[in-house]
Amino acid sequence: MERKTHKAKGIYNGMDKDLKNKTLQELQEITESFGVKPYITKYIFSFIHQKSINDINLISTLPKELRAKLTEAGYFISQLKIVKKLSDPDGTIKYLFETADGNKIETVLLDENKRKTICLSTQIGCRLGCRFCATGYLKFQRNLTAGEIIDQVNSISKDADCKINNIVFMGMGEPFANYDDTVKTVRILASPFGKNIGIRRQTISTVGIPEGIRKLANEDISPRLAVSLHAHNDKIRKKIVPSAGKYPLVRILNAMRFYNNKTGRRITIEYCMIDEINDSRDCAKGLADILADFNASVNLIEYNPHPGCDFKPADRNKIKIFKDILMRYGLETIVRFRRGRSIKAACGQLGADMIKIEKKS
Ligand code: SF4
Repeated sequence: MERKTHKAKGIYNGMDKDLKNKTLQELQEITESFGVKPYITKYIFSFIHQKSINDINLISTLPKELRAKLTEAGYFISQLKIVKKLSDPDGTIKYLFETADGNKIETVLLDENKRKTICLSTQIGCRLGCRFCATGYLKFQRNLTAGEIIDQVNSISKDADCKINNIVFMGMGEPFANYDDTVKTVRILASPFGKNIGIRRQTISTVGIPEGIRKLANEDISPRLAVSLHAHNDKIRKKIVPSAGKYPLVRILNAMRFYNNKTGRRITIEYCMIDEINDSRDCAKGLADILADFNASVNLIEYNPHPGCDFKPADRNKIKIFKDILMRYGLETIVRFRRGRSIKAACGQLGADMIKIEKKS
């Protein structure tokens, strides 16, 4: 019954009282009305985000009466439940979380020596339905709140007992379809009183929502931007990304140009290499052509199979030829090799196990 209400209203009821969902400034506005001094509020913020405390009663720097008053007023600290954890021999760990209203999301920890990266989910399901991506085959339920996105970091850093120093918004969902909570998450994670993960160590990856790219260019913070093009023209792109009909390449490129000019920042182009779809020499030359006047670099990603789709990964030799062509045209290009494929944690595979669950039921 309760779950129906969440869906009907399109919001996650009650989460406005979640203290994990607040920037330091928002938290200060709340605590001020309870007579809490700003320096104490910084302690509250750091208890939530540095120490990963999920119970107001455990914030020991806060007098008992104040903890009781906050609780009586309905304030709380949300927490995701870790339902399952799978490890790949390459060091990748995939977490299955359950939200308080019973939905499931997946998040990935990539451990590469000193670089500890978390690949965050921003939505439950996704409306954009990209064919190469398992999440695109799941029904969209709702956006995650900033508190729920942040708790993926807090819970994993606590569980894996490690300091996270890199964030990519490349998990389940399109971050710009949940723009406000995504950007709020960047701000909270970057706070020196919280996880202190630098803005430039956070990458927002979009399938190409022009309005989101322009909006981000106008923010007072500049996380890194990655744009998933996957094709050099709309005809091929529509075979991979159905939203290409709504967001033609020309609009995405115009927004990217605006971002380059406004921020002076480089954009990473993500390109999923799919056999016989977008892996030819002509595709490589076409991509080099459309990116000729951009400040951009390219990540080539091997397509990772999932049960919902009959695409096949491009041949490794073809990927090498593709890369060489881009490099000859002066585009810095790297090939991202699959990580976490054995546990379906590689790029495009999040939610793959849920597709099976949905088909059975
Ligand atoms: S690639 Fe991103 S935008 Fe496309 S379906 Fe998957 S989660 Fe959604």
